[in-house]
Amino acid sequence: MIRIGPAGIPLSCKGRTNKDGLRYVKEVLDLNAMEVQFIRGLFRMDDEEAIFMKEYSKKNDVELHVHAPYYTNLAGDEEELEMSFEKILKAGYLSNLMGAKILVIHPGFYGDLSEEETMERIIENVSQLRKMFKKEKIETKIGLETMGKQKVFGSLDEIIEVCKKVKGVTPVIDLGHIHARCNGCLKSKEDFENIFAKLKPLRLKHYLIHITGVLYENGNEYYHIPLKKSDMPVEPLLEILLEKRYNVTLISESPLLEHDATYIRLQLEKLLQKKTGKEEIDYRDIK
Ligand SMILES: [Zn+2]
Repeated sequence: MIRIGPAGIPLSCKGRTNKDGLRYVKEVLDLNAMEVQFIRGLFRMDDEEAIFMKEYSKKNDVELHVHAPYYTNLAGDEEELEMSFEKILKAGYLSNLMGAKILVIHPGFYGDLSEEETMERIIENVSQLRKMFKKEKIETKIGLETMGKQKVFGSLDEIIEVCKKVKGVTPVIDLGHIHARCNGCLKSKEDFENIFAKLKPLRLKHYLIHITGVLYENGNEYYHIPLKKSDMPVEPLLEILLEKRYNVTLISESPLLEHDATYIRLQLEKLLQKKTGKEEIDYRDIK
């Protein structure tokens, strides 16, 4: 199954609460996923809204994920660590109340540490976090995002390594970040398939994937750009998803947010038309 949705409240949605955004995703955009962003104007959600999110998303088959605040550092000093745990736990509490599947977090920075030391600390602290989630009965999974800058922990290999070591933690495949970090390496079907090949040992049943165009230099992301302006094509990715029947959720993080989510949907349905010969086809019909 393929799910598609925006990262946050759609730009064209007049109401600016997550509740408004979720209804808009279903009723206006007719998409089936959303990633709630607890990033700017942090945590503007009360329990009541979170419960609405859960009920509405279940009833209307919209899969929910959540992005925790951007600035967290699980390799940092005591003070930073405490701040990070606090932010992530608070996001975890609301994610659970919403019935969200994955809480996306940014793992941290190398700072003055070596890559190995950073890895050790992150493994240790992600395990701590897992324990706290269990204790608080938070069922939402912790998702570790691949990061798009050289000085930030989170190459695809590093994220896979942490997920191998800490059970129940899952990678979040941010394609824009991977593309930036490797200076534009995602071009062909094989390039995308390589990502899935690397993930294979984790035996994931579902993949959460972030998509956006990205401007980068020397292996560092500058900013997000629309998919059509990007040198990372979407079609080869969609082809491999269909070919291998991966179970994925594609979250558009493009500056055009829902417009690019809809663009992905159109490209996917075009491909499906070609493959099946059917003129009328809905991406939700593929199993
Ligand atoms: Zn992120």
